[in-house]
Amino acid sequence: MSELMDELVLDGNAAAGALAEIYGDDMTTVLAECASCGQVDPIGGLVAFVHAPGIVLRCTACATVVIRIVQTPKRTLVDVQGKRIPAPPTTT
Ligand SMILES: [Zn+2]
Repeated sequence: MSELMDELVLDGNAAAGALAEIYGDDMTTVLAECASCGQVDPIGGLVAFVHAPGIVLRCTACATVVIRIVQTPKRTLVDVQGKRIPAPPTTT
């Protein structure tokens, strides 16, 4: 991994704070199954791209998007595409 990539790509722990706010619990140890290839990783071990709009967590095996987090000034939206991950609590 190049130095440039090191700046752009983090692991799922980069999203720990945002996810904890949404779910009210630490989500980094929750297992997520890739909807595309079936790879299972703890959320904290997923590949995080923080320069996309919001934070995108991708599968470590095939780079399919597993979770997308978009923070707006009013609220945080979570788009869960992987399996096994609890749906985010509905917020109003
Ligand atoms: Zn995958």
